[in-house]
Parts: sequence; C-alpha cells; structure tokens
Amino acid sequence: MSLLSVIVPCFNEEESVELFYTELMKNHDFFRGKGVEIEVIYVDDGSKDGTVREIKKLHERDERVHMISFSRNFGKEAAMFAGLERSAGDYVVLMDVDLQDPPSLLPEMFSYVEQGYDSVATRRVSRKGEPPVRSFFARLFYRLMKRISKTEIMDGARDYRLMTRKMVDAILSMREYNRFTKGIFGWVGFETKWLEYENVERAKGETKWNFWKLLLYSIDGITAFSTVPLMLASLVGVLFCAVAFLMIVFIIVRKLIFGDPVSGWPSLVCIILMTGGVQFFCTGILGQYLAKTYMEVKNRPIYLTKEEI
Ligand code: UDP
Ligand code: MG
Repeated sequence: MSLLSVIVPCFNEEESVELFYTELMKNHDFFRGKGVEIEVIYVDDGSKDGTVREIKKLHERDERVHMISFSRNFGKEAAMFAGLERSAGDYVVLMDVDLQDPPSLLPEMFSYVEQGYDSVATRRVSRKGEPPVRSFFARLFYRLMKRISKTEIMDGARDYRLMTRKMVDAILSMREYNRFTKGIFGWVGFETKWLEYENVERAKGETKWNFWKLLLYSIDGITAFSTVPLMLASLVGVLFCAVAFLMIVFIIVRKLIFGDPVSGWPSLVCIILMTGGVQFFCTGILGQYLAKTYMEVKNRPIYLTKEEI
C-alpha cells in the first residue's frame, strides 16, 4: 500500500471540519482500489473556536486523522509548511477545509500523477461569487508578477495541489520565513499538469482574508520572487538626471539669448516636492526588502506547536 497525505489548514473552521472529512472520504474506495491509503492532517492555525474539539472527535472515530495545533495564528503559509513537514505520504495534497477545493477532483488529479507528473495543480477560471474589487486587484497582481518575476505564477492558481514525495521534499528544502507558496511551487519546477475548474463558493463560515491582508500578502509575494522594484529607484534616478540635464541646458541658453531674470518659485516648489516624493517612495521599496531580509536573518521558527495527535 502507498499513502496519500491530505493536508488541511484550518483557522476557526469548526463548522467545516467534519463536512470536509465526509466529502473527502467519498474518494476512499477509489484510492483503496488503487492501493492507496489516505491520511488526513488537519493543521489548526491557532483557532479560537471549537476547531480543535471537532478534529479530536474525528480522530476518535478514525485514527487516520491527525492534528497539529499551533500555539497561535501563524497564517495559512505556516500551516501548509507544518503539514508538509509531518506528512508521511508518497503523495501529498494540500486542500482548504471550506470545500472550495472540491475533493471530487482527486481521482482525476491522481490519474495524472500515475501518468508520471510530479505535481497536479488547479486553477479557477472564474471568480464567480467574489467581490469584483477583489477579483480586479487579484488579476492586476498576477499580471504584474508575470512581468517582474521569472518564477511562473499562474493567474487564479489555488494552493490545491497533488504532489509526489519528490516535489514535497523539494518544497521542504526551502526554509524561508517569508513563504509565498504559489511562487515556491513554480520555483522548484517539476512537471506540472494544470486542471481548471469554476469557482466554488465556501460551504460554511467566512473567508479569513480581507483586502488589507491580501494586499500585504501580495507584497510578500512580490518581494519574495522579484527584485525588479529595487531597480526602479535607479531607473527613476537616471530619468530625473536626464530631465535635469536638458533643463539646465535650456535655462543657460535662454539666459544667454534673452537674459531672462529668475522667476517662478511655485514651479520650484513643485519640483522639490515631486523629487522628494519619488525619493521617499524608493526608500520605502528599499525598506520593504530590508525588512524582509531582517526577518529572514532572525531565523525564527516558521510555526510553534501546542499539541499534536
Ligand atoms: N486559513 C488558515 N490560517 C489563516 C487563514 C486561513 O489556516 O490565517 C485556512 C482556512 O481555514 C481555509 C484556508 O486557509 O482552510 C483558506 O482560507 P479562506 O477560505 O478563508 O480563504 P479564501 O478561500 O477566501 O481565499
Ligand atoms: Mg476559501
């Protein structure tokens, strides 16, 4: 028998824990037929509700259900990493507990792994049921990433992905603190098969992401997989120097020919404000990278465990 580890990050999801288990286990016979046993690793990301209780209840019924519980909320990235670290499976799949990653896709995903793919990934082709503003900025982010990063990051890509042990070990070898898994998947390479599906709305509960959290997450993504913004400062600097040079020539020539007196401090103030603004902006970008480097250098653990079953 080989083993499939299903990793499920949960943060305040007491309503979904059992629902997910039931849906997942509908695939039990299929995998049995293939000689594959399923283990479920719920990663409780510091939930404040009855999530841990629900997981323990499942564990009593079925000992293939495991749990890692964090000492506080470390974020989904940390939860996925912890799950990958504990997984023993020859195959590993990452799934959301809210059933937005349909378990019914698993047999199809597995068929591609059998064909020799090291990873089978999924992407949403629609964003039905999502606030339009969120979709707009999500699209913008992926378009920007495509331009400024060499790492392939698919638009609409989910973290829902079935991988072989080889790929999981590759991901685990990346021990960075600022984790952006969508980029890490692309960075490690391996042959990936993409499956597409229509967006499914959350079964129970509410999304744990708001606009602000997503914005910060996108900055994580950019700083983790591109250094293009750092070049921006140099480019703007060169541009400003060129403009300044032309203006100097223009003013000298004008003075020699027409003998104009100096005039117009408002324009001067505008120029000073503008260059000042650009300088602060560029220093800010520098600060972002410095802050990320600072956190990396501290080498703190990615998560801390409170309880494990
Ligand atoms: N999640 C988590 N820690 C967090 C936020 C979310 O483990 O800090 C889990 C959550 O329980 C769910 C998955 O990550 O299983 C996806 O979260 P959510 O459905 O809220 O995100 P969305 O689908 O809206 O992008
Ligand atoms: Mg969701």
